[in-house]
Amino acid sequence: MKICMVGTGYVGLVTGVGLAETGNDVVCADIDPTKIERLNRGESIIHEPGLDELVARNVKEGRLRFSSDVAGSMADVEMIFIGVGTPPREDGSADLSAVDAVAKTAAKAAPEGCVIVVKSTVPVGTNARLRKIIADNGDRKLHVVSNPEFLKEGDAVNDFLRPDRIIVGADPNDKHAVDLMRRLYHPLTLSGGRLVLMNPPSAELTKYVANTMLAMRISFMNEIASLCEITGGDVNSVRIGVGSDHRIGKHFLYAGPGYGGSCFPKDVQAMVHTAKQLGVELELAAATHRVNAIQKGTLFRKLKQHFGGELKGKKIGIWGIAFKPRTDDIREAPALDLIDALLEAGAKVTAHDPEAADHARHLYGDRVAIVEQAYDVTKDADALVLVTEWRQYQNPDFKRIKQQMKGSLLLDGRNIWATYKLNGQGFAYRGIGVQSE
Ligand code: NAD
Repeated sequence: MKICMVGTGYVGLVTGVGLAETGNDVVCADIDPTKIERLNRGESIIHEPGLDELVARNVKEGRLRFSSDVAGSMADVEMIFIGVGTPPREDGSADLSAVDAVAKTAAKAAPEGCVIVVKSTVPVGTNARLRKIIADNGDRKLHVVSNPEFLKEGDAVNDFLRPDRIIVGADPNDKHAVDLMRRLYHPLTLSGGRLVLMNPPSAELTKYVANTMLAMRISFMNEIASLCEITGGDVNSVRIGVGSDHRIGKHFLYAGPGYGGSCFPKDVQAMVHTAKQLGVELELAAATHRVNAIQKGTLFRKLKQHFGGELKGKKIGIWGIAFKPRTDDIREAPALDLIDALLEAGAKVTAHDPEAADHARHLYGDRVAIVEQAYDVTKDADALVLVTEWRQYQNPDFKRIKQQMKGSLLLDGRNIWATYKLNGQGFAYRGIGVQSE
């Protein structure tokens, strides 16, 4: 099938290359010419395991190409995927200007009968709105299908090629669009992944409900962590005890420094905002966001408490800046909240991240020392804070850390060192919802 993928970010690039990998002829288009130039030079634009190899192979074999001519890339294709960003506005609502712009371009540039597939995360009602935009801006009959994406950064290629489910929101009477979607995804459902067909509003809601429910589990466990700290409980034990009930399951129950990334924070807020506009108060979703906003200050509060309220001049080392391991994405990362608060308080910050260092350097310039070697963070540090649980931080050389640090505080934002009895090794160990001994 001939496909145009609009937007070459985390979702667009992975989807584009994934569809090329299954035999389709794909052109990935983006308005950012620098991105396209870099892709055409064979450069890696995001860190995603397995992605670069897949891109190189599909380009070489002639199934994948990149273009900054968005309208031109739409001519002569059977399907156009929209994978552009939907960032949060100041009031929490989703900014749909890029999605709308692509729909307007498609209204004029797409061939008759083309299926427009909305992969971006968009509020309920957007599918219907895009149909209207297309009708108002052109005279061709185009089909609009909602197909939200569920990939996880850090494992995106695998998620795309081996999906748990593929949600397709389409008018059940639109046989052409439904048949094309079934045919397109057939290779990905052979190994058991299910294609779930529903109407567009249900598909749009499914994406927000899934992210909000996962975020809700995290916020709930973060509240429980605070309760553990004052009652002598251990949130890891509670997590294992609760998660072993198969009705609950063990995923997304980890206490930590608050959730970040480009999806949970914005999607929870956008869902609350959309519902409010429609006269429905989503109390649980709103509380999930409020709890997370508080939790994002927890590492800073713990540092402040340890140093008697004064952080001016303290040298704080940070391990992990990306919002989670295996990605270079720092959007809404809890490390940024911590770094901002520390700088504001007059502390000196040194940080390390295996993949997100360049993004962090770009953001902070010389206000934060971003080092290449993880152990350089610990030199003369008053405290070492683990924010992102990259594997390489999980079993470090604590003797070396002790020798290099000036102070003794190890603040473990992910509770990965909780069982190492670090207090007995001369450290002051603190975690989230775990006891110090
Ligand atoms: P991104 O910011 O990484 O990429 C968006 C791309 O769209 C950029 O390259 C940008 O230049 C391009 N773009 C913007 N306006 C354009 C236009 N008018 N024409 C052509 N290109 C344009 O975003 P992302 O993380 O890939 O997310 C894209 C969408 O997918 C969002 O709605 C997001 O919520 C959703 N989503 C993201 C993830 C994720 O893990 N990142 C997972 C599931 C769903």
